[in-house]
Amino acid sequence: MGKALEFLQQEQVNRAACGEAMHQLMTTLHPICRSITGDGVRQSLAILQQHIPLTIHEVPTGTAVFDWTVPKEWNIRDAYVKNARGEKVIDFQQSNLHILNYSTPIAAQMPFAALKQHLFSLPDQPHSIPYRTSYYRESWGFCLAHETLLKLEEGAQEEGDYEVYIDATLTDGHLTYGELILPGESEETVLISCHCCHPALCNDNLSGMALSTYLAKALIEQQAVRQQRYTYRFLFIPGTIGSITWLALHEAEVEKIKHGLVVACVGDEGSLTYKKSRRGDAEIDRAVLHALAQRQQPYEVLDFSPFGYDERQYCSPGFNLPVGSLTRTPHGRFPQYHTSDDNLTFVTPAALGDSLATYLAVVDLLERNHYYCNLKPKGEPQLGKRNLYSAFGGKKDAKASEMAMLWVLNFSDGSHSLLDIAEKSGYGFQLIAEVASILEEHDLLARMPDGR
Ligand code: ZN
Repeated sequence: MGKALEFLQQEQVNRAACGEAMHQLMTTLHPICRSITGDGVRQSLAILQQHIPLTIHEVPTGTAVFDWTVPKEWNIRDAYVKNARGEKVIDFQQSNLHILNYSTPIAAQMPFAALKQHLFSLPDQPHSIPYRTSYYRESWGFCLAHETLLKLEEGAQEEGDYEVYIDATLTDGHLTYGELILPGESEETVLISCHCCHPALCNDNLSGMALSTYLAKALIEQQAVRQQRYTYRFLFIPGTIGSITWLALHEAEVEKIKHGLVVACVGDEGSLTYKKSRRGDAEIDRAVLHALAQRQQPYEVLDFSPFGYDERQYCSPGFNLPVGSLTRTPHGRFPQYHTSDDNLTFVTPAALGDSLATYLAVVDLLERNHYYCNLKPKGEPQLGKRNLYSAFGGKKDAKASEMAMLWVLNFSDGSHSLLDIAEKSGYGFQLIAEVASILEEHDLLARMPDGR
């Protein structure tokens, strides 16, 4: 295992430090009003560029991308509702969730009854501001806590007209996304994709951006020590339209994607959840399931479904890529989801650090999941004369290592990967891979070329 991965994976101190750093990054990104296009995305990606060498791409409004069209670019500077006394009763400067994302500009006076048609709240969660969007239907609106709405309603009798002001633009511009390619020995690619289009929401959105950034940092650190086997391609894209746009513009490169993960909701304290790729039995599916099982902590596995995040696009039938999604509590299953309660206190450094360690374990498994060939396949090789029993002598798990050695020798016939052998034997991948490298050093195994 590479030193960088070992460092992050095994040292609790570093895991905690990374968790803190990811949380800090989210704190910096939190106030920025992001959307599927616009300066909020650009500002956010510029902050990530202070950590990793992201390339920023701009795709013009009107570009045809499969069945979709890149929309107009939206930018907002200010928005509020004032009562007749001139007091701001809803203020975008207080929370960027107050604006219906993609609202068209307006400056008007209107009675409460007319305004109310444009107000959104959650009666069941009266203290929370909901997150709403209207990307593909031109409209305007404000989101507010239900308790605030009730107060406005009470006072509406005495009040005169309300002043509604939204200083926004919706014009021809660009869709912006960030991309980082870390070339490996092979062009075969691991895709890491996260969405970057939500405003002040932490678990859904910012946690994925922070984890992807720190995963890229770890791989860059690792690369300084040893070249990676795979090429890693990180995408920071607006949800749905971003992945559709990227796929449409990179159709020729898509076949290089051998494994992929969509990163989101990785900062809450819930247990980890893996949503399988549409294929269901891709190497990435098996790698994640193995890594989760090795943690000896509760986790959940979901079959693919055609809703959720950008795995929907990567796993659309025309691509059917081996892309799953590793989250903690899945979207929509925590009450804070798409509300102002998905805030900086809902996500914790400990959970972020734990999620990153799991992603690193999956990457490490993919990197080392080679096929080997037994060079002495007729009968068992005599291990004693090669001091292979004593190679594990004194180790607590010496017996397990011996057994693992026999499994690796027997099934290294060129058609079983180390993960196949780990699954068959019930031993952890780490042990199987460690044993394989010792057997290789003793000329009992030879690694088969990759890309077979
Ligand atoms: Zn969302």
